[in-house]
Formats: sequence, C-alpha cells, structure tokens
Amino acid sequence: MNLVTPPVSVLPSAKLIVGSERRVPGDGRWFEHRYPATGQTTEEVPLGGRSDVNDAVDAARGAQLSWRNLRPDGRRDVMLRLADLIEADADRLTTLQVLENGMPVAFASRFVANAVDLVRYNAGWADKVQGEVVPTWPGSALDYTLPEPYGVVGIIIPWNGPLVSVAQTTAPAIAAGNCVVLKPSELAPWSALRFAELALKAGVPPGVINVLPGDGITGDALVRHPGIGMVHFTGSGATAQKVLAGAAEHLAPVSLELGGKSPSVIFEDADVRRATRAATRGILDLSGQGCLNSTRILCARSIFDEVVSIASETAAQVVIGDPTDPKTQVGPVISAEACDRIMVTIEAARSSGHGELVTGGERVGGDLAGGWFISPAVFAGVPEDAKLAREEIFGPVLTVLAFDDEEEALRLANGTPYGLASYVYSSDVRRVNRMVNGLESGMVWVNGFTGLPTSAPFGGVKSSGYGRIGGRAGVEEFTRTKNVWIAS
Ligand code: NAD
Repeated sequence: MNLVTPPVSVLPSAKLIVGSERRVPGDGRWFEHRYPATGQTTEEVPLGGRSDVNDAVDAARGAQLSWRNLRPDGRRDVMLRLADLIEADADRLTTLQVLENGMPVAFASRFVANAVDLVRYNAGWADKVQGEVVPTWPGSALDYTLPEPYGVVGIIIPWNGPLVSVAQTTAPAIAAGNCVVLKPSELAPWSALRFAELALKAGVPPGVINVLPGDGITGDALVRHPGIGMVHFTGSGATAQKVLAGAAEHLAPVSLELGGKSPSVIFEDADVRRATRAATRGILDLSGQGCLNSTRILCARSIFDEVVSIASETAAQVVIGDPTDPKTQVGPVISAEACDRIMVTIEAARSSGHGELVTGGERVGGDLAGGWFISPAVFAGVPEDAKLAREEIFGPVLTVLAFDDEEEALRLANGTPYGLASYVYSSDVRRVNRMVNGLESGMVWVNGFTGLPTSAPFGGVKSSGYGRIGGRAGVEEFTRTKNVWIAS
C-alpha cells in the first residue's frame, strides 16, 4: 500500500486573521506541523503572540457594537450564507481535516456536513434570542429580561475534531451577537482559518471572527486579556485549571468542555452483539481520540466472555490505514508524543499483570511505520482502580469489566472523576430509566449511538466540565441576562 499525502495546496494561507488583516505572528514564533499518517512535515503554522492577542481583541471590540446591533435576521442570513459556503467547500475542507489531523476521510466528510448543520441551526437562533416579562407586584410596573452578548468571547479548542469544534462554539457565540477571538490548536489549525476565510466571504464583517492559531502561550495571553468578556474552553482538565486561573485575574466567566472516560453499560437482556460492537467503536472512531468515545465496557458477568470476544474481534477486524482511503476506519493518533504516551500506558498496564491484553496495543509497521498508528487495544478484567480503567487515555484503548448487579454497574459507571457521556444497553425500559436517573453524566445514549442532533445540549458534569454548547442551551451559554424594571 502506498500512502497518499493530501496536497498542501488545500491549506489556507499560513497567516493569523486579525480583523481584515492576514498577518505573520508578532512574536515570530512558528510550529512545524507534521502529517500524522507519515510523520512528514506539512507546513509551518504561525503561533499567535501577545501583541496579536491584543490586536485581535481590539479588532473584535471594534466590530462588536455594529455586529450586535445588526438586525437579528441580518445576522441569521449572513450565517446561512456561511453555511452554504462551507457546504460548497466540502471537498477542500474534507481534505484539509485529513491533512491537519490524520482522521480518515469518511469522518472528515461527515464532519463537514455536521459543521454545515451546526452553522444553519445556530443561524436560526440569531433572531430568536429573547427575554421574558417578569411578574411584578403590586403589578403596575414593567419588569423584563434582555439576553445580551458578552461582547468579545475568547474560544480555545483542541485538535481532535477542529472543524466541528469551531462550528459548535463560534456559531452560537456570533449568533448571540458576540465577536470572537478563536484559538485553535497548533496541531490542527487550518479548519478554523478556512472557516474564518469563508465567513469573511459570506459577509461576516471583519473583526467578528479573528483566528490566532497557537499553543499554551497564545491561549494564556487570550484568557488573561481584560477585554475578553467570556472564555469558552474545550480541552483537557489539566489545561482547564490554568484557563480558570488566568480568567480569574479579571473574573471572566468560563465554560468548559473537557475530557471523559465514558462507560458503555451492557446488561444481559441487551442485543449483546450489537451493543458490544457499538461500544467498541469508541476506540475505533478517531482512533479513540474523541471526548465522547466509549472507552470502558461494563457488562453483566454472565455475558463477560461473549462481550470480550466480540469486542476483540471487532477491534482486530477493523481497517487501519491510509486516511485518504474511503475504506479506512482507523487512522493514526495525532502526534509522536501522543503515540509514545499511549504506548507507555499500554506497556505499563500489560506488565502490571492487572487484566489481560486480548488484542492490539501495538505500533503498526509496514507501510504505516512512518506514521503514528496503534492497533486498537482491548483489555479484559482490569481492576476498577487501575489507571487504565479510570483515566482518559485519548487513544485506542478499551477496558472491559464485569458487574454482578445493577447497583454495581452504576457504582462502576460513576466511579471515575469524569461525567461526559454514558451509554446503556438493555431491553428493560424500567432498568434503563433507573440507570439514566442514576448516571452522573451530561449525556446518555440508550441502545445505540448515531451522534448527537444539533438541537441537543452538549456537555458534561464533574471533571468533564460545565456549560453547554449545543441546542438552545448552547446559544444561551453565550448570553448574559439584564433585568429591566420600568416604573408605572
Ligand atoms: P489540551 O488541554 O492540551 O489543549 C486544548 C487547547 O488549549 C489547545 O488549543 C491548546 O493549545 C490550549 N492550551 C494549552 N495550554 C493552555 C494554557 N495554559 N492556556 C490556555 N490555553 C492553553 O487538550 P488537547 O490535547 O488539545 O485535546 C484533548 C482533550 O480535549 C481531551 O481531554 C478531550 O477529551 C478534550 N475534548 C473535550 C471535548 C468536549 O466537548 N467535551 C471535545 C474535544 C476534546
């Protein structure tokens, strides 16, 4: 097999977007990006510096009043034009995501469709954000609420699904009348730059969406900037603590979408084959690098052997390979560092003797040896307190644990610091209902996973964060309420 590297000509210009200006980084810092499937250099990524953050916030502040005061249906229409342009740009955006992230082309193209839906859905909210009349007593005064934008929102996103992350956050923020300074990860910066280029083409005024690809230095400067009215952060819990500390300097509110260790709970009365195959997808989709991905199977003891066998068969049969090939199901992990970290975790678990590595867990060689490919690993019988069963690995590693009853299933499911997503498989509706009520997670899927509708709220509890970036709640997240009282 010869690996095909997508052409770098699909990438937008390697410049920061500040207002109407494309510029090179003020601090002169650049990052050498590598294509995860080959490890070869693709292009230098500009890293936003402190002066760029200052200028981007100024540009956003400059654009904010007129964007906010634009007729709501005007904001809606310009966002609908943006959605059309993203749709028309689908081929390029698909290839670009493959190149920046190494994700299989089948995913990349679904993510473009998802981004189009998200922009259209949020465009629809632009003229529907409204307050309410509040009862007063003795009754003759008028009291009402006005949802208002924060002004400038600093948005920091990770590399694992960058186009969807941009659409999930930037679309509701601008629909609500905010301007945005967006900081994508240096590991996957081009979706965000292309999104902003298309937004300008659609008629979104310069300054409404500014894009500063960057690293922790860029992100830190952004959250500490006093001109930022609110911060949205998607990423890991460890970075979220730094973001909170930075934003605390000027008491900016923060919404957090963080990691997970999402359980799939499979009862003996489920369609065990279907449930196990669906649960195992968690380590196949995006090579296990998805915040929602199911990475723990908890199953009834009576079906444990069957579940382990189906999970390992599913993982072993998957097509690992060239991300540009539509048949590929699993691509590389994002970077050499991530690959090393995941392999060290697998080796440590293997040598600890806790649990059995049933399949996978190896670097893939041959034509794929230059990239960062790991065969999906299934561990059976890992103790519940082992690192492998508790911590987010963000790679293709699944653990399977048995439970004896519903109570234990719930205890194990809730037994990590995370609470992003949970999956329940059972044909007993009362049991499902009890589980849904008891699960500590922001989202629960029952008897299947086909993604999340754009109209549904997306977010976690516990160490998986707070705030929501989907549905109506996602737009409300980017507004604050003013109360108005008018004397009679
Ligand atoms: P990360 O926390 O390392 O980085 C996230 C972003 O923060 C990047 O843009 C990074 O450059 C930036 N950053 C780094 N240091 C910073 C600092 N000091 N101040 C401000 N910004 C800083 O996470 P990652 O490795 O890019 O992404 C993986 C993590 O993201 C996983 O934990 C995953 O579960 C989580 N994630 C969550 C969701 C969700 O919606 N809940 C979605 C995708 C990914």
